[in-house]
Amino acid sequence: MFFVILPNKKVIKFINFIMMVDFVKFFYFRSFETLIIKVNNCIVESNFLLIESCFVNLFFNENKKQLFVLGSMCKYLMANAVKILFPFSVLGFGNVVGNGFYYDFELDFKLSSKILEKLEKQIYFLLEKRFLITIFLSSAEKVKKIFFNNEYKINLINKTYESNIYIYKCGSFLDICNNIYKIFFKNAFFLKLIKVSGAYWMGNSSNIMLQRIEGFVSFKYEQLNDYILSLNDVRDHRLLGKKYDLFHFQNDTCGMIFWHKDGWIIYQEIIKYLRNIFFFNNYLEVNTPQLINKNLWKMSGHLDKFSENMYSLFSDNDFFILKPMNCPAHVQIFKNSIKSYKDLPIKYCEFGSCYRKEFSGALHGIMRVKNFIQDDGHIFCTENQIQREVILFIKSLFVVYKKFLFKNILIKLATRPEKRVGEDFIWDKAEKSLVLALNKLNLNYFICKGEGAFYGPKIEFTLKDNIGRLWQCGTIQVDFFIPKRLNSYYINRYGFKQFPIILHRAIIGSIERFMGILLEDNFGNFSLWLCPIQIIVLNITANEISYSKKICDFLKKENIRVSFDFKNDKISLKIRNASIRRIPYLLIVGKNEVTNELVSVRTRDSNDLGAMKIDIFLNMFNLCLFN
Ligand SMILES: [Zn+2]
Repeated sequence: MFFVILPNKKVIKFINFIMMVDFVKFFYFRSFETLIIKVNNCIVESNFLLIESCFVNLFFNENKKQLFVLGSMCKYLMANAVKILFPFSVLGFGNVVGNGFYYDFELDFKLSSKILEKLEKQIYFLLEKRFLITIFLSSAEKVKKIFFNNEYKINLINKTYESNIYIYKCGSFLDICNNIYKIFFKNAFFLKLIKVSGAYWMGNSSNIMLQRIEGFVSFKYEQLNDYILSLNDVRDHRLLGKKYDLFHFQNDTCGMIFWHKDGWIIYQEIIKYLRNIFFFNNYLEVNTPQLINKNLWKMSGHLDKFSENMYSLFSDNDFFILKPMNCPAHVQIFKNSIKSYKDLPIKYCEFGSCYRKEFSGALHGIMRVKNFIQDDGHIFCTENQIQREVILFIKSLFVVYKKFLFKNILIKLATRPEKRVGEDFIWDKAEKSLVLALNKLNLNYFICKGEGAFYGPKIEFTLKDNIGRLWQCGTIQVDFFIPKRLNSYYINRYGFKQFPIILHRAIIGSIERFMGILLEDNFGNFSLWLCPIQIIVLNITANEISYSKKICDFLKKENIRVSFDFKNDKISLKIRNASIRRIPYLLIVGKNEVTNELVSVRTRDSNDLGAMKIDIFLNMFNLCLFN
C-alpha cells in the first residue's frame, strides 16, 4: 500500500502499482499528451510506474497540446486532399504522434513518393480557400449510415461503443474526429509529407494492408529542417551513434557525452594509438589539474580574451576555472625546475579533459561539445629549433591521417596579422622556418596573409572526407607570447635567462569531434583495429556451444575483442544481425566445424572465406590488423 499526494493536499491510497498513463486517465480524464507530470519534482513519462508514496504534480503543457491539435488538423487536411485527388480512395485511420501524423488509405494503385508534393499543394490550397469546417455530434447509428460503404469506419465505430460521435465536415469531406479542433493559419506552422509505406489495418498482420502517408509538422521551421536533414543525411553521426549504440546525450548534461561501451572502446583505441605515436616522437606525457585558480588564467591572458567560454567555480573562498585548454598548465611543469638550452626541445603531451562554454545552438552531436579531450601537446624550443620540430610534427601527422585512411589533406599557412605581439625579426624568423619546413617536405600549401594568431604564425591541416567535405583538424602554432607572460625561461649557452618558443600542436584536435568525422566518413565501418567487436562467433545449434566458447577463449587470449551470439535463433538471422552491427569477421560453427576443428569465416560485407583452422584465420586476421 502507498499514498499519492496531489498539489491540493488530496491523498489517494493505492493497494497496487499503477502506470502513469492510467493514473492520468482515471483521475484527470486527460490524455497524457497534454500534460507534464512531475513525481517528487522529476518529470516522468507515460510508462512511469507509481509503486511507492510520492508527491505528484501536473502541469498542462500547452505546447504539447497545441502540437497535438495542429497534427490533428494536418491529418484531416491530408485525408481531405487524398479524397480530392483520388475520389475512389477509402479512408482508414489516422493518428498524431508528437510532431508526426499519418493516415492510412485503401487505394487501387500503389502510391509513390512523387505524389507527396501534389498532396502538399492540395493541403495548402484547402487552407488558403478557408472552407468552412464544422464539428458536430451525431449518434453512432447516424454515423454508421454516413459511412455505410466504408468498412473501416464501421469497424472503428463498433469498437468505440460510444453512442455519440463527433464528425468533422469540410465541404463534402466527412470524418470521425475528437472534439479538439482548431484552425491554424497557413503561416503559423511548417508541414512536410515525408513518406508512403504499407500498414496493416489496426496494426494486425492478418488484416488487409493499407497505404500510409506520413507527415511532419512543427511550429518552428528549424525543427522541420533538422528533421528533414536527419532523414536525408544517413551519414549524420548522431543517428549512427544511436544505431551502433556508441553514445547518448541527456538534457541534464546538455553538451556532454555519455559514452557507451562500444563508443568508449573506439575512443580508447584512438588515444592508445596516438599515445604510441607521441612516445616515438619523444613527447613526455603529463597530466594537469582540471580546476585551476583564476589568477593563473589572468596571468596567461586567457581570462581577458576567453572568459565568455570558461566555466568558473567559487569554492574554498577562491575562484577557480575549469580548464578550457592545457597550455598554461604545461608551462607550470616546464617552470617547475630550471631548464638549460641543452634540455630543449622539451615536448609535453596530455590527453586532458577541457571544458568550454558553448551556446546550446552551437552544439552539434559529438562534433561540438562542452567537454572534450584533445591530442594536445606543447613543444618548448629555441627559435632555431622551430623548423626541425615542425618537420617532425608534420611527418607524424601524415602517419596518423594515413592510419585513419584520410588521404586528401589541405595545408594552410597563416602569417602575421595587423595586431600582434613580438618583434618583426622574430616573426620573420618564425614564418621563414614554417615555409622552409613545408618546402623541405615538398608540400603544396595556401598562404593566408594576416590570418595568423596575434602571438605567432601557424599551419593548419584540413582533411577531405569521402564526400568531399572539409574538416580542419591539425594545427601547429608558434607562440612568442605565453612564455613571457608566464615568466618561463631557460638558461642559454651564455648563462642568461631566455624565453623559449612554444609550439602548440594537435593532430586530430578534439577526439570527440574526430570520432564524429570518422563515423560520418565510414558509416560505422570502422577499420579492424578500431572496431569495438572485431570477431563474433555464431553457433548453428546448441550442440556447438562448448566448442564455440573454446574458440572465444582462444581469441580473447590473443587480445582480440571477440563476442558471441549463442541465442536460439536461426543462423541466417544471426549473420544478418552481426552484419548490421558491422562486425568485421563472423566465425560460424556447425557440426562439420566441430568435427574437423574448423571455423567458417565470413566478412561483414558477405564475403564467404570458407572453413579453416583457427590459427590460419588468426594469421590472416593479424595481417589485416597491422596493415
Ligand atoms: Zn596550447
